[in-house]
Amino acid sequence: MALSLHNTISRKVEPFIPFDPTGKKVGMYCCGPTVHDFAHIGNFRTFVFADLVRRYLEFRGYQVNHVMNITDVEDKIIRRVREQSTTLAQYTTKYSNAFFEDLKTLNCVAPHHIPKATDYIPEMIDLISRLMERGIAYQAPDQSIYFSIEKYQGCGCQYGQLVKLDFEEMRQGDRVSEDEYEKECVADFALWKARVPDDGEVYWPSPWGEGRPGWHIECSAMSMKLLGTSFDLHLGGEDLAFPHHEDEIAQSEGANLQEEGKPFVKYWLHGAHLLVEGKKMSKSLGNFFTLRDLTDQDYNGREIRQLMISAHYRETFNFTLDGLAGARTALNRINECATKLREAAGNTQANPATEVVEKFTTALDDNLNVSSAWAAVFDWVRDCNRKLVDNSMDPETAASELAAWEHIDTVLGVGVDQEEAPAELIELMEERTKARKAKDFSRADAIREELTSKGWTIEDTAEGPRLKRL
Ligand code: AMP
Ligand code: ZN
Repeated sequence: MALSLHNTISRKVEPFIPFDPTGKKVGMYCCGPTVHDFAHIGNFRTFVFADLVRRYLEFRGYQVNHVMNITDVEDKIIRRVREQSTTLAQYTTKYSNAFFEDLKTLNCVAPHHIPKATDYIPEMIDLISRLMERGIAYQAPDQSIYFSIEKYQGCGCQYGQLVKLDFEEMRQGDRVSEDEYEKECVADFALWKARVPDDGEVYWPSPWGEGRPGWHIECSAMSMKLLGTSFDLHLGGEDLAFPHHEDEIAQSEGANLQEEGKPFVKYWLHGAHLLVEGKKMSKSLGNFFTLRDLTDQDYNGREIRQLMISAHYRETFNFTLDGLAGARTALNRINECATKLREAAGNTQANPATEVVEKFTTALDDNLNVSSAWAAVFDWVRDCNRKLVDNSMDPETAASELAAWEHIDTVLGVGVDQEEAPAELIELMEERTKARKAKDFSRADAIREELTSKGWTIEDTAEGPRLKRL
């Protein structure tokens, strides 16, 4: 079987066939955070989902080029820069660094490229210029540049590919009040926002005057620059499908940079939202959590990650503290089993056992069916434990089962890392080796006991002795 994924654009689960003629290389873009504050656990559900997709593609042998942007200029950020009398760079660096730390806590693999919007202003200006040349964009009286849906449709392009739109409802042709009051039609969106006094020092020069880019153009410019004008996968939370992703399609295809017949993006994947205790997260309801709020309560990143990937990405997920306690129990079961397998395997090495890996792969091939994938893992834990209890597992089998888990965990990313022993204990271990060589066995035994009392044991490996957690 091959991998199939649900494509928002076709509303179907489709076989995954990348553009690359060799079928190996995959370009993948996930909209990253807007760094106006610490990201919340809802945001992280989406980023952990992207990490799962990337890891699974690699597990299936694809060579992934994973891009995730950082939106480091937008209304909220500008407001806070002004309120705190700081600079844009200073303000956003703090929150993007926090975001990278949080990604590490959740054991997400770093994307290959993490472009910051403010580093790609020339590319955004080029793209807007192209849309101006094609007559799809226009400058409004306030000097801002807007994308004209009507002109885009006039070129034979379709607006409303990801979502079905009711243009009557959107009152095409009406003028709107509020923020973008100068645009011609309500559905039009800003590509370039002319500088206003409240922007302070946050502005760039452009052929249309000083200003800053709109949010949608950022992702079109950065994704096409780093992955080419047509690429395989674009991900984000479900709220981004409209208008953000629809507008990305309009801008990117409106610029007409793709080869004949090729779309901007082949597969659109959207992750459903996370609720907390059954409700949309909100500060006033007291159910709003950043990752740090949870790690401060002594939950670790792997437990939070396990809970986030325990449900299918297209299902709304109800995050609860009880669920986190369940994740802890589930991971303890797996870790205990892996520890026993390690003991039974000793120094024996083996290829991964195939049965559990095949079940796991079949499950995830089916549009990332994590529930069946976890079921395969827990059935395997039960089987292994049974064989380990009655001592019917030989070192070869144990090594092979352990290798299977390690292979599977390259996707799940929840296994415990082999912990590094503190330097003073490593020194003690080396002293013991010397004592044994000098035939001072009582000293050697005393050291072993001291290490045991500190929770460590000495394991002989091909590279020599090393310390392992008991
Ligand atoms: P933002 O920083 O607001 O641009 O959001 C970053 C990502 O988090 C986007 O892909 C959003 O779709 C996603 N997101 C926002 N809220 C939630 C939520 N409650 N559950 C899952 N994903 C979310
Ligand atoms: Zn985006």
